[in-house]
Amino acid sequence: MRDADITVRVSATADPAAVRAARMGLLLRSLRDRGPRSRGRLAVETGLTRTVATGLVDELAELGLVSCEDADRRGAGRPGVQVRLVGSSVCGVGAEINVDHLAVVAVDLAGSVIAEFRRGIDGRSLPPEGVLAELAGLVDDALAEARTAGATVAGITVGVAGLVDTATQRVTLAPNLGWRDIDAAEDVRRRLATTATPVPPVRVANEATLAATAELDPTDADRADMVVLYGEVGLGGAIVSGGRVAPGRHGWAGEIGHLPVDPRGRLCGCGRTGCWETVVGLRALLEAATDPDDPVRDPVLTLEERLATLVERARLADGRTLAALDEVGTWLGTGAAILVNTLNPGTVVLSGYFAVLGEWLRPAVEARLAADVLAPRAGGTRVAISAFGPTAAVRGGALVSLEPVLSDPTALAELHGGTR
Ligand SMILES: [Zn+2]
Repeated sequence: MRDADITVRVSATADPAAVRAARMGLLLRSLRDRGPRSRGRLAVETGLTRTVATGLVDELAELGLVSCEDADRRGAGRPGVQVRLVGSSVCGVGAEINVDHLAVVAVDLAGSVIAEFRRGIDGRSLPPEGVLAELAGLVDDALAEARTAGATVAGITVGVAGLVDTATQRVTLAPNLGWRDIDAAEDVRRRLATTATPVPPVRVANEATLAATAELDPTDADRADMVVLYGEVGLGGAIVSGGRVAPGRHGWAGEIGHLPVDPRGRLCGCGRTGCWETVVGLRALLEAATDPDDPVRDPVLTLEERLATLVERARLADGRTLAALDEVGTWLGTGAAILVNTLNPGTVVLSGYFAVLGEWLRPAVEARLAADVLAPRAGGTRVAISAFGPTAAVRGGALVSLEPVLSDPTALAELHGGTR
């Protein structure tokens, strides 16, 4: 979406305070996504008059969210004030519950990571309360670090590898964890309330949806329509259309891991046979690349440690590892071709564990797209490797947690007073 489109929409609202808040958010987003600029350029690019933009920038500076620096002093030629986002006073927390690992990150408004924690778990043998207690402990550590850094926490968003009902905020079904109808947000909120008062708002979302949020880039036209493939024990997915993650009717869109690709294949965690994730999930790669007693399969290790070992073996050209990566890459491309034929995305992003091993997976994916997509040049679709990899979901969760501040920066004064 172009900045000007947002302007048109908010201008139609009658409430002047709401218009002002939305315009301040528009300026903040523009500074975050496109970097520091002069007040004049900022006004032109956001479709605001220079007078209005200057007044709003002053208000944002009073809230401590932007700094204004005289360009003359930096010897930049023409006089003008450079406006820069100052993100350190507020952060969002993203958390992730997966079958074999938990992760938490706190990211400030400028995108800098201020706290990061992760832990390997065996999510299949632990009951949901046990997993949520471990996660709440990590979130609590992140809240403490944010406090030490002087940042107000705008919210906490927990990503789960499963179906999350956006309206009720309940985890409807997480097949690989064996969860059904779990109120994860309320559970985490209750646990945090014993140490943090008041507790920042807690929300829950599908982890691949959050991973896709981290991949959004309004400055890249090829990312306005994209498919994000988030590789974990299974396979999560999200479809981005017109610059937004498409949630579907109940928030359940993107369950591409359960596309049937191999009717005579393996049993899936969901109870069906031959789902796409049974041939591309980390479990499938580990089964193809390692023996059952291989330390890489040890759930006590963090995901990063396991992947680092696989990367090392691939770099040493270990035959079994390379063959397994080629097999997974070929299946990944076979399923991706179905999505490219259906959606004609500008980009297919290999995220999650796929990104760490992207160097070896991408050639096979591109070969399948070239062979299986009807449109010329694979529909012009680019295969990109996520810069965030397995941290994309927690990063996306942190970004989603910051949304209320970007929608209404004036609410920050209240947050500063309430949660510090
Ligand atoms: Zn399945």
